[in-house]
Amino acid sequence: IPLDLLPFFADILQQARETLTEEHELIFNTRGNYQGFWGDRGLLQQIFMNLISNAIKYSPHGGSIEFDLIGTESDVMVYIKDEGIGIPIADQEKLFQSFSRGSNVGTIPGTGLGLAIAKSCVELHGGNIKLFSQIGQGTKVTVSLPKQSIGHGAWGMGH
Ligand code: ATP
Ligand code: MG
Repeated sequence: IPLDLLPFFADILQQARETLTEEHELIFNTRGNYQGFWGDRGLLQQIFMNLISNAIKYSPHGGSIEFDLIGTESDVMVYIKDEGIGIPIADQEKLFQSFSRGSNVGTIPGTGLGLAIAKSCVELHGGNIKLFSQIGQGTKVTVSLPKQSIGHGAWGMGH
């Protein structure tokens, strides 16, 4: 059966809210048709828990964290935008590699695995993940996942 994304993300955001300080604001927007998405719940949790925890962790001075869920005919897109410390341009391309961290993390703890895990889980769904960031301004991560609904239910039929 397809994954019902609204309660799925509401649950993840609720867990994230429990780790926020009062200087943070978490905004959740949805638009379009995000019904009919097929995916693995556990892998999707890995993706979005890692991305939201990064948005919070790398916004030590608070600010707003915006989470957008957008559905089209064929894909589901999720945008996660923060107003945190950002990432130096020189570090950006290697961050999806295991154990890679930005040079500006200071004393913020981390292993450098979250984005590598997220990218693997996104790719298992046939999707893609991109990161846009400006140091001192914030970071936006975009995840695009195909709905994969075509073919489901038709197994064993056709040829
Ligand atoms: P963990 O394995 O616990 O997630 P981590 O957060 O350091 O550790 P990743 O999630 O893979 O590892 O992120 C890699 C690096 O990318 C981070 O160390 C940080 O430098 C940078 N980064 C990731 N997300 C953000 C963000 N939202 N804002 C600023 N820097 C970020
Ligand atoms: Mg992380």
